[in-house]
Amino acid sequence: MFDIEGYYEAKSVEDAVRLLAEHEDAQIISGGTDVLVKLRDGKDAGGSLVSIHEIRELHGVRLQEDGTLEIGPATCFTDLTNDPLIRRYVPYLGEAVDTVGGPQVRNQGTIGGNVCNGATSADSAATLQTLNAVVVLQGTDGIRRVSVTEFYTGPGRTVRRHDEVCRAIEIRPEDYAGFTGCYMKYGKRAAMEIATLGCCVRVKLDQEGRTIKEARIGYGVAAPTPIRCPVTEAALAGCSVEDDRIYEMIDSGVLGEVRPRSSWRASKEFRMQLISEMARRALKEAIRRSLNGEAPGVAAQDGKGGDQAC
Ligand SMILES: Cc1cc2nc3c(=O)[nH]c(=O)nc-3n(C[C@H](O)[C@H](O)[C@H](O)COP(=O)(O)OP(=O)(O)OC[C@H]3O[C@@H](n4cnc5c(N)ncnc54)[C@H](O)[C@@H]3O)c2cc1C
Repeated sequence: MFDIEGYYEAKSVEDAVRLLAEHEDAQIISGGTDVLVKLRDGKDAGGSLVSIHEIRELHGVRLQEDGTLEIGPATCFTDLTNDPLIRRYVPYLGEAVDTVGGPQVRNQGTIGGNVCNGATSADSAATLQTLNAVVVLQGTDGIRRVSVTEFYTGPGRTVRRHDEVCRAIEIRPEDYAGFTGCYMKYGKRAAMEIATLGCCVRVKLDQEGRTIKEARIGYGVAAPTPIRCPVTEAALAGCSVEDDRIYEMIDSGVLGEVRPRSSWRASKEFRMQLISEMARRALKEAIRRSLNGEAPGVAAQDGKGGDQAC
């Protein structure tokens, strides 16, 4: 049994916003894989739930006219990984959420819940950081867009206000076109394991495939919130992919930009080792994928899934 005061099934985003504004004790429930576990533990007991599970517009992935990918926050991980747009344009995001829990959790847990729970260990976090994903929030004051790089304010805390519903996560063409990427997760076992560390590295190479035009490095659990490593990213730009010093630059760079802690899962020292090792491996794989011709263009709205040159 769960100790809840009321349960409200929202019919639309507007309805969910109204219900949250009317019930100060209410929180959103989407897949419930975080909310119900906490309720069972006695946290948030006696409060109310506003379900957004039946709001159809919050499910699935769509393409906007300008090539922006619009991810419905109530899309479960399994659907996200298998979505044709995700597979073509941001496959490493699908790979990242495919490391969550086990099949049951991936069929139930949603990308919106993974972002809005504010956890630095969330498996989508490092990748969404490197994608400069935009969190679209709708509340009583209207709609606002917040970059995911500005979204987190502390462990389990975000800028989202009580009455705001995440209605989409947007990925703009300039943030995916021409890039390849790789997400790596370290956990003590292969499944049903919260990340000890998560790392995503993405690269855009020049046309000849010789030089890094742009690199992006994101981490989960390398700090109290998900982070990027802008100094190392800037240092990698313009470097030759054949120059092994890029891997030394990772070591000397990222270790100065992270703030990991010791926890029962791992010591700070072990996390530091993971931080450089995983970034090196992810960089290598992202470059390999790029040289293999896997970088997409801008998604075209021709209904045929074709790309425009970027
Ligand atoms: C056994 C088990 C294993 C797990 N393993 C992993 C793992 O390996 N990696 C990982 O990252 N996570 C893991 N999780 C955690 C969880 O599955 C994820 O965080 C999941 O993404 C939560 O999504 P949900 O839809 O179930 O969220 P919910 O529990 O419904 O909600 C989570 C939070 O987000 C808020 N919320 C949800 N949707 C919205 C929205 N649209 N707008 C505003 N606020 C919203 C809720 O109010 C709540 O605060 C695991 C959980 C379990 C139970």
